[in-house]
Amino acid sequence: SMASPALLMRVVASAYSVAEKAATIVRNVMSAGDLGIVEKAGPNDLQTKADRLVQMSICASLARKFPKVTIIGEEELPTGDVTEDLIEDGHCEEILKKPCPAQYTGIKEEELVIWVDPLDGTKEYTEGLLDHVTVLIGIAYGGKAIAGVINQPYYNYEAGANAVLGRTIWGVLGMGAFGFQLTEAPAGKHIVVTTRSHSSALVNECIAALNPDHVIRVGGAGNKIIQLIEGKASAYVFASPGCKKWDTCAPEAILHAVGGKITDIRGNSFQYNKDVKHMNSAGVLATLRNYDYYASRIPNTVKESLVP
Ligand code: AMP
Ligand code: MG
Ligand code: MG
Repeated sequence: SMASPALLMRVVASAYSVAEKAATIVRNVMSAGDLGIVEKAGPNDLQTKADRLVQMSICASLARKFPKVTIIGEEELPTGDVTEDLIEDGHCEEILKKPCPAQYTGIKEEELVIWVDPLDGTKEYTEGLLDHVTVLIGIAYGGKAIAGVINQPYYNYEAGANAVLGRTIWGVLGMGAFGFQLTEAPAGKHIVVTTRSHSSALVNECIAALNPDHVIRVGGAGNKIIQLIEGKASAYVFASPGCKKWDTCAPEAILHAVGGKITDIRGNSFQYNKDVKHMNSAGVLATLRNYDYYASRIPNTVKESLVP
């Protein structure tokens, strides 16, 4: 008889379905029209009803199936029972059929940490820039991001009524990433993608030092990694604190699974143990190719301004 699938593949297969349910919630809250916006740290740090419901849905659904896994979500929510209509118990059969990379077959539940950003790009969601929004489920083992799911609930929303709305991208280190077409950025051009709503003098100084041919300003860490793997941008550069571990875990796993690289602005890799500090205080530098080109051009003054 077939051996039962490895835990990691069962978690990824479930996270895929859980992220699709999350996307439905994101779309339903928007079409119902009452976003229930709450300011967290300030007007550029928002939470909506979608952030709250999606986090409850993802965390409760995964905790029910994998009770010993550590799950860390962005939003601080009152503890209490989650209504059954928010629970997703399905999984993606196709993912379950794939062999788990050998180095991960022995992983136990208590060794996994799942980082959940229920809605990345909330500011843009509230402003109607819907394709900037993603749902991020990152899976870490031994402090490293090893698998991830990125759902983009409004992928294709400007393509008309006949287009299929939304998509799910997923990946595992040592296996690759799926659900999109890996595309190289234009050769010989330096296209930087960065924040749209969290700029600062330092963010702009760092970009200027790279002398890019073009700068794309869009919301969301998930969305910016998608820009890299689909060849829209050659580097994601954010010389500022603000991104947290739930913003980078799933994107990191997917980017690394296709041969890219993400670090802080100083070149340090991110750690995803359950006890790690949440804030990525020293910013983000990510590329699909030519990481060293960009890393070598970050000014020392910028690096020294950002303390990990
Ligand atoms: P952005 O590129 O501005 O969309 O940021 C990517 C992620 O980091 C989003 O989840 C933002 O909410 C978060 N983020 C970045 N900068 C800040 C900030 N200054 N305050 C709060 N959240 C931030
Ligand atoms: Mg986020
Ligand atoms: Mg969020």
